[in-house]
Amino acid sequence: MFSEIAINFLTSAPVCRLMLPLRRQVVPVFLMHRFADDNRGIRGHSLGHLEDALGYLKRRGYHIISLRDLVESLLANRPLPDKAVAFTLDDGFYDQAEKALPVFERHQAPVTVFLATDMQDAQYWSWDYKLEYLFKHTSENEIKFDFGKGETKAQFQTANDKRLLVRRLRHFYKTMPNAVAENAVSDFSKMLHVTLPSSAPSEYQPITWDQARALESDYVEFGPHTKRHPILSQLTDDEAREEIAGSWQAISRNLKNPVPIFCFPSGREGIDFGPREQRMAAEAGLIGALSADPGYIYLKRKENTDIFALKRFSFPDTLAHFKQYCSWLEYAKERL
Ligand SMILES: [Zn+2]
Repeated sequence: MFSEIAINFLTSAPVCRLMLPLRRQVVPVFLMHRFADDNRGIRGHSLGHLEDALGYLKRRGYHIISLRDLVESLLANRPLPDKAVAFTLDDGFYDQAEKALPVFERHQAPVTVFLATDMQDAQYWSWDYKLEYLFKHTSENEIKFDFGKGETKAQFQTANDKRLLVRRLRHFYKTMPNAVAENAVSDFSKMLHVTLPSSAPSEYQPITWDQARALESDYVEFGPHTKRHPILSQLTDDEAREEIAGSWQAISRNLKNPVPIFCFPSGREGIDFGPREQRMAAEAGLIGALSADPGYIYLKRKENTDIFALKRFSFPDTLAHFKQYCSWLEYAKERL
């Protein structure tokens, strides 16, 4: 990693001008999740940081393009503006609608939000959020569980201990069929003495269809992200097809101009999705799909970009690292 001083020099306007031919070859797509909300105990990106990042792009002559524009241009071999950048928001929680989207709108910055449509249609919330909820609300500080290698005891005193444990558990249950994960969540609910609300509690409130309709604009667009946010590779053919095609149908029924680009939950190519899911997305009439693996979209070496596994970078926590990914610098590092 470069120091902040080095990044600031290497991404200064004169150096960036010099390195423009290199930067022209790629587009970074950024992936964001939740936005911090102290009132409801939600950790996430800060709005101030988002403002800084969007302000920086404008000042430095970057072009924020929509994901739709990016994919359509790739398909049609149409040139894109220099120094293009795109933004995506996954999962469609209330904080994105109330906090982040108005900022994008005000900056006239295109952004695409991916909805798991049973959250809107059935007040569904998936097992990975339930797991987080249970640990956040328990007064226990020890638990015994079995990862298949005998019983282990885990202790958790602080919020950070809990977060690390939840991450480990999520990682483990993502490799299991959805029903196993759902069952594990109800076991944990008993062990931790926390009752799970039947519909999403306030901190997991999804963007409603009404909100989404009100937010749809020239800058804010919505795309499909399954119905129930399962790991698709763990599903049968019929289930996976229903998750992919069903979420596209739901979003098309409810919104005026949805984006026909799919977003794979968890998004690790070869683990969470593969050729089967990519084919199903194409068969459902979608024109491309996003992974969550880090990497650029290549404009010059297009063969390196799979239109049904488009890579993204997690939105960096610091402005210095954001500059690094937006500029030529990260790409040069990648090529070395
Ligand atoms: Zn997701």
